[in-house]
Amino acid sequence: MANKVTQWNASGDVTDRFSRPLRDLRISVIDRCNYRCPYCMPADVYGEAFEFLPRRHWLTAGEIKRVAGLITQLGASKLRITGGEPLLRRDIVDIVGKLASLPGVDDLALTTNGTLLADKANDLKAAGLKRITVSVDSLDEKIFKEMSGGRGDIHSVLDGIAAARSAGLDPIKINVVVQKGKNDATILDLLEHFRGSGMIPRFIEYMDVGTLNGWKLDEVVPSKTLVERISERWPLRPLERNYRGEVASRYAFEDGQGEIGFISSVSEPFCGACHRARLSADGKLYTCLFASEGLDLREPMRAGIGDADLVGLLQNAWRSREDRYSELRGKETKAADESRVEMYRIGG
Ligand code: SAM
Ligand code: SF4
Ligand code: SF4
Repeated sequence: MANKVTQWNASGDVTDRFSRPLRDLRISVIDRCNYRCPYCMPADVYGEAFEFLPRRHWLTAGEIKRVAGLITQLGASKLRITGGEPLLRRDIVDIVGKLASLPGVDDLALTTNGTLLADKANDLKAAGLKRITVSVDSLDEKIFKEMSGGRGDIHSVLDGIAAARSAGLDPIKINVVVQKGKNDATILDLLEHFRGSGMIPRFIEYMDVGTLNGWKLDEVVPSKTLVERISERWPLRPLERNYRGEVASRYAFEDGQGEIGFISSVSEPFCGACHRARLSADGKLYTCLFASEGLDLREPMRAGIGDADLVGLLQNAWRSREDRYSELRGKETKAADESRVEMYRIGG
């Protein structure tokens, strides 16, 4: 045990089987959501009778802090809080405060659908949140509502964004999942609204996460097509990535009206630079968005495991990692496909 602590303190960073370091942790704090986006939690599956995790299975704020703290000691410095809908968690401000207090965290962000943001933006900022990403698939009221499973109201989300801006949660990123035939015709209107505002829209290729969204390749609009379409209206210039492992390719409007990003996990997989681990609300560590199994940390923690042993578990999980699902997409066996974890359980 003592050896493990010494080894971990001395060597710090851990790498996986492809020499990828662990740099970033996504923390899903809740598996529930007030939306039913068909690409994530289709309403016919997640109806009234669906049994979400019992609350006692959620990691507490203190347990989340403990895991995140140990992971930062293995090399991670970027934390993102997600869900489900993270702002549904009543102690979200406490969670943010605890994570913000960890040494070695140089980026603390949160992804939300924005419905509850107007009331919480100031408290989140005061607790130490640095940045926020708000998901907005369309500014067209009807399409927006459809893409939230009939639950969303775009005006409350725009109010949330305004509150986040005045709270100083900059720069705000706007996540847009693009689905052919659903919202792709409203992309230019959305850009017209956000261009020049300092906010950064990021277009995400519709992904085959989980097993329940009925994903079809022909509903994906490749980023390349979007770049061409947008450039015809507003010429774009590619930008360098901010850091190795950044998932979005960045472009600037030639006319100086800001920046946009494209997350092309289907058409241009980026597994080679994937430095991300994910923690589910019930305390499982996943080393890939498309994993079927996670490493349970909750039970050992509740049984009293010490930090040295917990670090040992985390190190082993990362060291044995060989995930590169997006690069292998289409070559996987059906059995593997059917057991993939759902996105709302481990965050986007
Ligand atoms: N509920 C919050 C939200 O929607 O922002 C946070 C959790 S959500 C799972 C995180 C991100 O994943 C969102 O931006 C969402 O649009 C994205 N997402 C969900 N399902 C997706 C899919 N099938 N393909 C691509 N992105 C997806
Ligand atoms: Fe909820 Fe976010 Fe999934 Fe939509 S994408 S159902 S808002 S968790
Ligand atoms: Fe990372 Fe897995 Fe996505 Fe590849 S498929 S980029 S390994 S999360």
